[in-house]
Amino acid sequence: MSEKSVKNIVAFCQGIFDDLNFTRAREWKAARPGRKVIGYMPVYVPREILHAAGMLPLGILGGGADMEVIHGDAYYQSYICRIPRSTIEMAITGRLDFLDGMMFPSICDVIRNLSGIWQILFKDKYVRYFDAPQNFKDEVGGVFYSNELRELRDGLGKLAGREITDEEIRRSIAVYNENRRWVNTVYDFRAAFPWKAPSAEVYLLMRAGMVLPPEEHTRLMQDYLAAAEAENRPMRDNCRVLLTGVFCEQPPLNLIKSLEISGCYIVDDDFLLVTRWLLSEVPTDGDPIGNLSRAFLHHSAQTAAKYEVDMAQKGSYLLDAIRRRSADGVIFAAPSFCDPALLDQPMMISRLEALKIPYITMQYAENSGQMQPIREQSGTFADSIKLWGAS
Ligand code: SF4
Repeated sequence: MSEKSVKNIVAFCQGIFDDLNFTRAREWKAARPGRKVIGYMPVYVPREILHAAGMLPLGILGGGADMEVIHGDAYYQSYICRIPRSTIEMAITGRLDFLDGMMFPSICDVIRNLSGIWQILFKDKYVRYFDAPQNFKDEVGGVFYSNELRELRDGLGKLAGREITDEEIRRSIAVYNENRRWVNTVYDFRAAFPWKAPSAEVYLLMRAGMVLPPEEHTRLMQDYLAAAEAENRPMRDNCRVLLTGVFCEQPPLNLIKSLEISGCYIVDDDFLLVTRWLLSEVPTDGDPIGNLSRAFLHHSAQTAAKYEVDMAQKGSYLLDAIRRRSADGVIFAAPSFCDPALLDQPMMISRLEALKIPYITMQYAENSGQMQPIREQSGTFADSIKLWGAS
């Protein structure tokens, strides 16, 4: 078997996924004196600025399905999602002790509170609550967001012990432009040939991008695409679904596998949105802070993770994705108690119902164990689409 076979690439990604000690990131840091690693929570941070500072942006996505949470439960009430508890657990048990800082994007109150706990627990570490604008006018939200980006740049500059130059940020923008191009190419390939790029594989491939430097992740995606294109795999009689609501706490890998086994090809999703939050290339000339700000304001994904000012536009992004991916239906999968995903759902559902687009809803936690009910639900959904067709 070639070193770059699908099997080997997926095994490599699985190894990264399973490693809650982040050995690869630790090795990256140890390889050169002075290197720094900054963790970030979902959903979006401008990784370009961290990269420009010579730091490794490391996506922290909770403890996953198997990690036992003992200390984390003491910090939170029972009626919220699991990702903050398992993240605290990882920190308290030393799994994140090599991080030089941590970023908490403004997705919800839970993450905001987690940033506060972090500041109390890890007083000597760089901690940044990263606010995003909810006004998308350049002269209002743009000014605010540009200031946020400059503050981030200054804070990281102090940590790095040097100024982060415009030219460095421009170079990093180019690196992430290329990374996003390949992420989108993988997504397009899966939508065109879902039997050749199963979603569990694509997910693992993208998860590797949360740990690897972007240049390495881009090469990995190129290798995967070449290997997956060359491999013959049987096409199943699955229906095509769009999976939405999974942008923060991640479902167990088994849930993703179960959906496909039960008859649903996932042809688009909102996993790991940081990899494709920006929808177009960010210009690599001129003012890089202004360019990143304008990209966020005017060219970013209108998912549940982003405030939509115009109610008439609510759901348009989802409907466009359904059309673009020729999806037969939608699976709304939300982490239990996830305000951003669950508050969005009724509005999305009313848009789908108006167009008679089939959907189902389900909830999960990162450590959900029982997959049989999921398989039955999604299997029945797939069968009903095949029997009666999508409208
Ligand atoms: S899963 Fe939802 S509620 Fe929990 S931290 Fe993430 S966005 Fe917030």
